[in-house]
Amino acid sequence: MGINTYMPGGTRRRWGGALSLSRARGVGSASRDACGDRCDDRGRRRRRRREDMSRARATSTSTSMVRDDDDDGDVDDHDDIDGDFRNECIAAVSGDASRVRDDAHARASASADAGWHAPASPHVVAFPLNARETSAVVEACARRRVRVTPRGAGTGLEGGCVPYGGGCVIDTSRMKTIDVSGVERGDGVARVGAGVLKSELNAALKPLGFVFGPDPSSNPSIGGMASTGGSGLSTLKYGTSKENVRSMTVVTPSGAIIRTRAETRKSSTGYELNALYLGAEGTLGVITDLVVKVHPLPRTRCGAVVRFADVKSAAKTVADCIALNLSTLLKCELMNDEGIKVTNVVFKTSLPCEPTLFLEFVGNDERQTMADWKAFEARAEANGARGSTFAATGEELDDLFDARRGCYLGAMRYRGLEAGTLEKEHVYVGDVCVPLSRLADTISTTEAAFKRARFPCVICAHIADGNFHCLIPFKEHERAALHALEDKVIGAAIAAGGSASGEHGVGVGKQRYILQEHGATHIGIQRSIKRALDPQNIMNPGKIFPWHASPDDELHAGDDDKHRRPKLAKL
Ligand SMILES: Cc1cc2nc3c(=O)[nH]c(=O)nc-3n(C[C@H](O)[C@H](O)[C@H](O)COP(=O)(O)OP(=O)(O)OC[C@H]3O[C@@H](n4cnc5c(N)ncnc54)[C@H](O)[C@@H]3O)c2cc1C
Repeated sequence: MGINTYMPGGTRRRWGGALSLSRARGVGSASRDACGDRCDDRGRRRRRRREDMSRARATSTSTSMVRDDDDDGDVDDHDDIDGDFRNECIAAVSGDASRVRDDAHARASASADAGWHAPASPHVVAFPLNARETSAVVEACARRRVRVTPRGAGTGLEGGCVPYGGGCVIDTSRMKTIDVSGVERGDGVARVGAGVLKSELNAALKPLGFVFGPDPSSNPSIGGMASTGGSGLSTLKYGTSKENVRSMTVVTPSGAIIRTRAETRKSSTGYELNALYLGAEGTLGVITDLVVKVHPLPRTRCGAVVRFADVKSAAKTVADCIALNLSTLLKCELMNDEGIKVTNVVFKTSLPCEPTLFLEFVGNDERQTMADWKAFEARAEANGARGSTFAATGEELDDLFDARRGCYLGAMRYRGLEAGTLEKEHVYVGDVCVPLSRLADTISTTEAAFKRARFPCVICAHIADGNFHCLIPFKEHERAALHALEDKVIGAAIAAGGSASGEHGVGVGKQRYILQEHGATHIGIQRSIKRALDPQNIMNPGKIFPWHASPDDELHAGDDDKHRRPKLAKL
């Protein structure tokens, strides 16, 4: 294979910039609806809630995300959010009034995530420090049936932490304890507060020679990662957050505090509650601290970028290499030609515009990492790769992966830069996960569908997991066309045996696909669990399941096929 060397010569991008930018967008747009004063008038509150709902409906792909009638008894209008409630919350957080905020800035900051879904302000934002304080805040909410929305770092993309309809946001960002004694003892675990960020945990583990395995492109909280089942660039070697959380402390919707399981490697005492709360998106309780697995830091790293004529050849190469079980392969990411083009425009790199694999190999023996790269390179050549660049040092590798991590920000700025307007756009983010054998076809179908409709289609994929993101910049007037295409491409992925979301969760954005993916009986069981554990429906209501899903949904036991493809609007 011909060696075609280049280095992405553009600016190095760290995600801090992207996230603060996303957050700034959220705050800016939220400030439009933040009324500033306490909404202590019933009429005003109802009006505001209706406005939240119609905004959410207008911007969400879910047509039925938020119930707007007042007479169904599931959630109240928050008439009980008054000075007394605030005082109860202050008492709950050890009397520290600075940690219960209802000023416009605090409410606006808690009103959006990093995605494109409509913002909505809460009435109050509480900043508890631990499980005890969280429990007291939740108890105060439960007494008055005030909605509770847990919030991590706000990097979610599906509106999961947006408090539609208001209520109380529990912001976990001050739960920052990191206890590494489990690493020092040799138990291979660390205990962290839910608000600790991925980068903060890794900074604490590095001097001890360890790393937290899951590595999203963003910098989320560990509690948020557990709540969405987040993963990222290193799943092949370390698994997702679901495989890396041993145990959690959770505050239930009634304010009780439970530990989900023992911290031991194995436990077989009854139902696996740890698994239940992983990926629950804050709908079953608030995670306040977690015991996570840690992994020894590898001593050597190397990597490469490899270019192909088409996505199919790249996907075939990856499938071949997975069959070879290359034990040092840590990261295996794909960007399509349009993704590379966007990266070049936004980050001033000069990568050839072809589907490209980004690889990293890690281990303790340089000969092994090199042997694995050579085996990969041979498979790539056999599948017609057009060229590759080998990166021997960590520095070079970081540059390469910065380009890959920059996709979302790139897609946001791409059309504005090309048109010279510098305008930033909303970016729709797809997140389907399909069996590896169906990946190439699914990506091709997706690219073709969006390109036919003249949308730029940036694809970045955790390709070895069968998980890919299509990032589609869009303007308001393109929304309807976008939703129609989304139905098509997610429908095709589900038909290929895949999932509507590999790592971002359902939130409000992917709601209308869960029935299609799982069938009515399965969703009926999920909703029964929600009802049993949160009978007042105060814990992040309207997420995962639409607010007004019909109670008939679970009556079709054993009839999955018949109900597998209901009208999407039914959810
Ligand atoms: C540029 C960019 C790149 C990204 N790349 C990846 C990637 O590679 N892989 C990936 O998996 N994701 C990625 N994401 C999405 C996002 O970072 C993840 O979904 C992340 O796990 C969310 O964590 P958070 O702390 O920001 O949670 P938030 O956004 O604050 O909340 C997400 C959900 O979790 C719930 N939640 C948060 N904390 C708690 C808690 N303590 N207890 C109970 N519920 C809670 C919220 O209610 C909400 O439903 C990316 C996002 C961006 C903007």
